[in-house]
Amino acid sequence: MLRYRHVIRLLQRRSYSSGAANSGSPGGDKSGEEDSHPIRRTLRLLGNDMRKVKEFFVPKDPEPEQERIPTQSKFKFTGERERDPTLADDFQTHCDVLIIGGGAVGSSIAYWLKEKARDGLNVVVVEKDDTYAQSATRVSVGGLCQQFSLPENIQMSLFAAEFLRGANQHFGQDVPLHFTPHGHLMLAGEEHAESLMRSSQLQNEFGARNELLTADRLEARFPWLNTKGIVLGCLGLEKEGWFNPLALLSNLRRSASGYGGHFVSGRVVDFEFVPQTDISVVGHAGSNEANYTGLNKAVIQLPDGTLRTCKFALCVIAAGTNSGQVARLARIGVGPGMLRIPLPIDARKRYMYAISSQAQSAPGMTMPMTMDPSGIFIRRDGLGGNYICGQDSTEESHGQEVDSQYFDQHIRPKLAERVPSLGEAQLVDSWAGSYDQNVYNENGIIGPHPYYHNLYIATGFSGHGVQQSLAVGRAVSELIMDGQFRTIDLSRLSFDRLIVDQPMYELNNVLS
Ligand SMILES: Cc1cc2nc3c(=O)[nH]c(=O)nc-3n(C[C@H](O)[C@H](O)[C@H](O)COP(=O)(O)OP(=O)(O)OC[C@H]3O[C@@H](n4cnc5c(N)ncnc54)[C@H](O)[C@@H]3O)c2cc1C
Repeated sequence: MLRYRHVIRLLQRRSYSSGAANSGSPGGDKSGEEDSHPIRRTLRLLGNDMRKVKEFFVPKDPEPEQERIPTQSKFKFTGERERDPTLADDFQTHCDVLIIGGGAVGSSIAYWLKEKARDGLNVVVVEKDDTYAQSATRVSVGGLCQQFSLPENIQMSLFAAEFLRGANQHFGQDVPLHFTPHGHLMLAGEEHAESLMRSSQLQNEFGARNELLTADRLEARFPWLNTKGIVLGCLGLEKEGWFNPLALLSNLRRSASGYGGHFVSGRVVDFEFVPQTDISVVGHAGSNEANYTGLNKAVIQLPDGTLRTCKFALCVIAAGTNSGQVARLARIGVGPGMLRIPLPIDARKRYMYAISSQAQSAPGMTMPMTMDPSGIFIRRDGLGGNYICGQDSTEESHGQEVDSQYFDQHIRPKLAERVPSLGEAQLVDSWAGSYDQNVYNENGIIGPHPYYHNLYIATGFSGHGVQQSLAVGRAVSELIMDGQFRTIDLSRLSFDRLIVDQPMYELNNVLS
């Protein structure tokens, strides 16, 4: 009996001490034993419930900025009508920035502006064809490389590589840009070997990584390559490859919309002007300085044919091959004085072919995007003996129709010379598209128009526009919001070089 009392006392002491621990500290019930005292048990359960209620209502400390992972949900689009159902439609009659052209360049400008300014700027993009059937961005093959001779072009492509690497941070998770990292190989004969060498040095100084290979080393490395007439090759070692341009475009559009940007289906068919006596243009020969007339509104033709106007504070022309015509609506190229100088953009056609070969000696996985001095380029496409090759037209040429003779007449002979195992390759598919060629000096034109106080230009990327679109968008957003370039200084690519006649030639005008 004594023994039993002792055991009961022991149990009581233990349950008392466990109850005391529970009431004193939330984590006190470490023993896992149940407290059988009804009042203490009720109090403990109530305490737990109160703690849960408190956790629910009292906000936790915010997570540090760098730990926040962006998700798709932050880009949920809410148009004006969704925000305010009383509005008749989403059409913006006024805006801060009107962007003409919603291809990679226009959408990138909208993305960067909205990403920085959010509700601080009303940004409207007018795109005449939401299917992008004729847009260069849609037919582009998304090549990315740094093998340029101008620091600006090298830096823009380096930025694209950096951006694409961190695309999830910018666009949200699961971004299917399908970036395939792979070096580009630019080949040069006697005539261009020295400039290839100089450019390679410059590219590496700016942070690109590529190596020069003599003809012997090229042959050893790429046994499928015929080095006849080749003196040197420059092979990209990192930050190069190709990606899906349409996926980039849709991510830029979706993100810009998610931040509150407006994409309007319609074609800009005219501008309305307004005399502004408070502005005088100095050095504008042939016109009265007191008679400045500024751009005020864009006239937009909607898909149903109706015309509406949108008044803007600033306008950006990013209309690809159509930029010269849009500029003419603003009297650029047809007005007096400095307005006499046109925006020198033409359409230039690029022919693309998909070919296939199962030849034993055909290039395999290690084949880089190879650019031949003859003007043709070729890269593998996937893993099954498929390749993409092509060539640019050298004359102004529009449209997307492919000349069926062109491959056999102009490309196959050059291909057979450089990669003999592909001389008999089967032609599987073909397509063509036109890009925005700057016929003055084959480089982008970025920045303010020297006459108009409220007009910016971003076009003429001459076959490199998709990879440059990210840096161009950021640069134009800097000009608009900060009044100057903050990251890459692109001032040498301004329209002013046309006025002072200082062309900026890209020596390695690569087919990327
Ligand atoms: C076959 C091919 C392959 C290419 N490969 C590469 C490559 O590998 N790498 C690379 O970097 N670049 C490449 N390019 C070049 C690149 O595609 C272009 O430089 C780039 O897409 C230009 O983008 P953008 O937005 O200026 O023009 P676009 O994509 O043409 O967009 C301009 C938009 O403006 C719209 N628009 C025009 N006028 C009006 C108007 N009045 N009102 C409203 N909207 C208007 C058009 O509908 C169009 O959607 C290639 C081009 C082609 C044709």
